[in-house]
Order: sequence, then structure tokens, then C-alpha cells
Amino acid sequence: MKMIRLKNILLFIAVGIIGAACGSDRGPAQIAAGERQAEVTAARLLHAADEPANWLSHGRTYDEQRFSSLDEIDTSNVGDLGLAWYFDVPTRRGMEATPIVADGTMFVTGSWSIVYALDAATGRELWRYDPQVPKQWAQYACCDAVNRGAAIWENSVLVATLDGYLVSLDAATGEENWRVDTIDRKPPYTITGAPRVINGLVIIGNGGAEYGVRGYVSAFDAKTGELAWRFYTVPGNPEDGFENEAMKMAARSWTGEWWKMGGGGTVWDSMAYDPDLDLLYIGTGNGSPWNRKIRSPGGGDNLFLSSIVALRPTTGEYVWHYQTTPGESWDYTAAQHIVLADIDIAGATRKVLMQAPKNGFFYVLDRTDGELISANAYVNVNWATGIDTETGRPVEAANARYEDGPFLIMPSPLGGHNWHPMSYNPTRGLVYVPTQDIPHVHWDATDFEFQEGFWNTGTDMEIAAAPDDPAAFQQLTSMISGQLIAWDPEEQREVWRYQHAGPWNGGTLATAGDLVFQGSLIGEMAAYAAGSGERLWQFDAQTGIAAAPVSFAANGQQHIAVAAGWGTIFAVTGGEAKALLKLKNRSRILAFKLGGDESLPVPPVAPLAQIAEPPPFESSAEQLALGRHLYFERCWQCHGDGAVSGGVTPDLRRATAQTHQAWDAIVIDGAYAALGMPSFASVLDRSESKAIQHYVLERTRLAWQKQQEASQ
Ligand code: CA
Repeated sequence: MKMIRLKNILLFIAVGIIGAACGSDRGPAQIAAGERQAEVTAARLLHAADEPANWLSHGRTYDEQRFSSLDEIDTSNVGDLGLAWYFDVPTRRGMEATPIVADGTMFVTGSWSIVYALDAATGRELWRYDPQVPKQWAQYACCDAVNRGAAIWENSVLVATLDGYLVSLDAATGEENWRVDTIDRKPPYTITGAPRVINGLVIIGNGGAEYGVRGYVSAFDAKTGELAWRFYTVPGNPEDGFENEAMKMAARSWTGEWWKMGGGGTVWDSMAYDPDLDLLYIGTGNGSPWNRKIRSPGGGDNLFLSSIVALRPTTGEYVWHYQTTPGESWDYTAAQHIVLADIDIAGATRKVLMQAPKNGFFYVLDRTDGELISANAYVNVNWATGIDTETGRPVEAANARYEDGPFLIMPSPLGGHNWHPMSYNPTRGLVYVPTQDIPHVHWDATDFEFQEGFWNTGTDMEIAAAPDDPAAFQQLTSMISGQLIAWDPEEQREVWRYQHAGPWNGGTLATAGDLVFQGSLIGEMAAYAAGSGERLWQFDAQTGIAAAPVSFAANGQQHIAVAAGWGTIFAVTGGEAKALLKLKNRSRILAFKLGGDESLPVPPVAPLAQIAEPPPFESSAEQLALGRHLYFERCWQCHGDGAVSGGVTPDLRRATAQTHQAWDAIVIDGAYAALGMPSFASVLDRSESKAIQHYVLERTRLAWQKQQEASQ
């Protein structure tokens, strides 16, 4: 995922570490022995739907519907919803986690894979586990140092770390039971996803398809951490032999020497489980690199990229697959949320699997065998005119593969829908999807050279940069929008939409109170009528929200909670972002209940520092052009489009004279490696480093000039 000429949609200059705790006595404490919670057994997980007070697994239930059967908060009283408590998370990177709530304790993760155990009724911190992820590992994370949540099993909490470990913690104390290496210490693998536990096995995937990895999903014994099975999603080098028949079959859909660039297909987020069919469904990611002409020069579908694959959860054995985007060439992952439901289609009840992957089509599959039932565009789509239900394949538009020149594509690599969870209300039969329209330009990289551990898209990021020309910029941003959509999967049509101020809004929660909850990028936590989309309640969260809310009961009262704070890929690459957001990134857990009367502290006013006049420098047009080119090859992924920070990483235009003096020490020699800024010595020489510095100084000069003009 990536890309974002989104510039202006975000503002946010993150302040620094936000550390203050709120309320009284928030010091770490352990749960007293007598309070030890009941075991979360296999049976409880199987029947999680029967425990309305709890939220026992990532999607609440194995079908991942994210539907709470609590109905105390409903359309008639949601206006009385107020803050019950809040908990300040002491980091400032992205928040994407779904909290787990079990028997009065909330287990939630923040950035850097840190786990917090909180009293679900008060927000009081019970313990904290920091896996001490080396900050350097963030260089392998395409999309911020985020974590999407933990899992619970018996008396243990399971979390996967950014640097590839799977850890089991004592749920009562946060002490490590075991910790295993799921990636054999091989960068550039990362993990941001939440584990799932099925019949005593912990299932976890990984990410890194932008950096040259071969995707796989693994299962470990939840008690011991012993590896039970591993399923690769793309074939390796045929000379090494294939792991199974599925890999042998998959290899026939690849050409050239794909294994040298990893292949991709990472299982970085979605999974669902049907216990009756005994099938585990995984969603796989994009190709490595994106551009198929480089990855698989003779063409081919490249299984199992951008696919939904059904596996036996006890053995990892392949059962069936459906590929949403054959021959993926656009970062069109199918790692997006998978929802299982039994719905009426043409008069018969079908066991379906639903997904709205990045490519813009909403898919309804028969989950017994992977047959495509229907697909329809849920956002603006121009790369394909539709999905042929006979063949199950997209009908691609002319030049969609950017063979005859640059192609302005919708959706962008950020997707019509990304990882932000959707939810399903079985009573209404509607799916609530956070969607977005964002354009992007795809074009071949002219000087591509594969380098493991660095960005390898095989596409030209420079051409996709936001234009400096105000009119062109205006035109581009006018194509960008974000919505909350209620989708009827039976009829494959939109029932209602709420138009947001911009894209990249939060995941959704559906409740039996006939409500849908969702946070927004501009900091509103809100409730909508499930049938009409009318906004019935909102709360100023003081920060953008990307994660999905959950619902649980504490002291017999229904609560709604969400991990607020944004960061994530959108903020990291955000770039020139002025318009909509006046808020800072505050990482916080917020919990609401009817009559809640807690309030958030008034945020400190921290005006953005002015951009100082840059030190004098001399540069030729060629050097500046080279610097720009290299910036869009190596730097923008973290420091933002056009050297404009979205607020998560430092804004290079605000670099001090001292920093500029130390430029090569930082960029080449790795002086700030421990802070997460790696050495680029293996891909940049000193003259190239200098060219990038001059590009940054030029951007600084332009911004400073603009600032001067504005102040006159
Ligand atoms: Ca990707």
C-alpha cells in the first residue's frame, strides 16, 4: 500500500511523545490473584457470539462480522453517549488495533507492538508489555510501526511484533510465557497483523512485499510456541523443490526468475474461520515488485497473489483459492478484511465469504468451494470494466497495465478500501465499509534495480508525486474523497453513504442497537443509524481515528471503545497537508457509555514552528532533478511527498543547520539508525546523498518563500 498524492488532506504535525496519563493512579499494577480471569477456552472462542459482554477475538467472532449483540445503546438514546474513560498511549506512531475484551480486562496494542492491559471498566493500566522492537526495523515497514491487535487463549495473550516474533504473555501479569521467531531473523519481514487462535494453534502471517519477501502464514502451538505448519503463498525457486502440490500448481502461473525478488503475496492482515467447514481463509497481498513486467516478464496470473485462499487450519493444507486480481500489477492486495455470513441469494441461503479488496470490487464468494457468486464496483474503478462471473476474472481496461504510457488509475495503491475493518449487521443484511476514491499514476520505473530491504515497486513514484502547480493540484485533490458505505451484498449495491471530509477513515462496528460506529480522519468519533446512515452522535476525539471500535459490557453497562490516533501509511506519506486537519496525533484508547461524563483535557496549543531560511547552497538543475528522483525512490515513503511530513516522521524542511551539516553522517553513516533512520550506504553514494540534500534545501527554500509571502 502506498501512495498518496494526498497531500493536502492531512495536516497534523505530531508533537512529540505524548505521555501524560489521565485520571487517578494509573501506575502499572498487576491483576490481583483473586481477580484472575476465567480461561478463554476453545469452546468460548467457538461460541464467542454468545458472550455479548466480551470481544474475544479480532473480528469478535470467527466469522469476523464485528457485530455486537449488545443493544443498550440504540438509535433512541445514542445522543446520551459520553466518554467513560480514556487512556493515553505513550507513543506517537499509528494506532490500528482492535482491542480484545475478556471478563473485564481489555488487551490492546499500540505502535511498536506494545501491549497494554487495562481495566475495561475504568481504563486503569494493569500491566504493559514492551517487546523492545529495534527502531531500525521500521525501515522494513511500508506503513508505519503499527500493530492491529492481540489474541487471547486460555490464560495467555498473544501478540506478534514488528520485528517478526510471536509472543505469549501471562494474561494476568504480562510476563512472557514464550517467544518464537516467525521469520528466522530474516529482514525485511515485518508483522503488523493480529494473531488468530484456532483449536490451540496460533495463526500469524507477515508483511514486506514492497521489500522483496516471499509471503507465508504459520501456525504455532499456543501452549509451547512450537511450529505446527507453514504455508507459502507464492512459489520459491523450482530448483529447491516445491513444498506441496499447491506450490507446484502456483509455479505454473509464474514466468522468468520471480523467486529472486521474493514474489510477495504476504498475509499481513485478514483471516476468518468456518468451524463447520473446518476452513481457514487468508487474504494475500501484492506482488514483489508491483510491476508484473519485472516480476514475471512472460505474464501469468502469479498465484496466489491478491487471492483468498482456503486452508485446513490443523495442517495448513491448501483447499481452494480465488484470485481477485490475476497478474497483480498495482499493489492491489486482497489482504483486506474477510467477513463470513449466511445470506439469501436468489431464494437460497448461501454460505458466503465477502471482501472489498483494494481493487475496488466487492466480492461475494461461496465459501465452501470459492466459486464467485457476484462482484460489483463499490468505488470509482477504471482499471477494469467489471468482473466476468463466468470466468471469475476482471475485464481489464485499455492500458490498465501501463504498457502504452502512464495510466491514471482508480483505485490507487491505497485501495478503494484498505485494512480498516468493515462490519456486517446480520439483521439488516448490510456491510458497512470505509471506502475512498484516490487516484494514482502508474508507470514503469526507468532504472529499476532490485534491492532487497528497500522499496521495490518497479513503478515510477516521481511521476505520481503531487504537482506543485496549484491548478493541477486542485484538480487532483478534487478527485479524492472518503465515505462510509452501507453495502447490500445480495443485490451488490450501495444502500446509503456518509460523505466524509477526506479519505482514510476508521474501521466500523455494527451493533444490535441498529447503529454503526466509526471514527474519522478529522477526529470525529460518530454513530450512524444502520438503516439510513443518519449521523446520530459525534464526539471530538482530538485526533484522527483509523482503527475500528469494539463494544463490550463492563459493570453490566454497554461500552464502545476505540484505539484513537492515526499515523499509519497515510500520515507517513501524507505530504503537503493543509486543508482539513487542525488536530495533532494523540494516541489514546477512548471508551464511551451512556451518561459517561469524563472529558478529554484541553489540548495544548503548539503552533507549528516556522520554516527557517535554509543555509545557502549551490546546485545545478541536473543535481536538483537527480535529488528529486532519488528522493522519490528512497525517502518519500517515510518523509512524505515533496519533503512535506504528514506529522509522523520529521519534516525535512524543518531540519536545522546542524542537521544539514551532519547530513552524510545521518544518511550514509547511519548516525540516527537507533532512532529508526537507517544508513543508505548500500544504495546511495555521497554525491547522490548530496543531491537529495539539495532537493530538500530547495523544497525548504520554496516553503520559506511562500511563508514569507503569506506573512506580508
Ligand atoms: Ca503493498
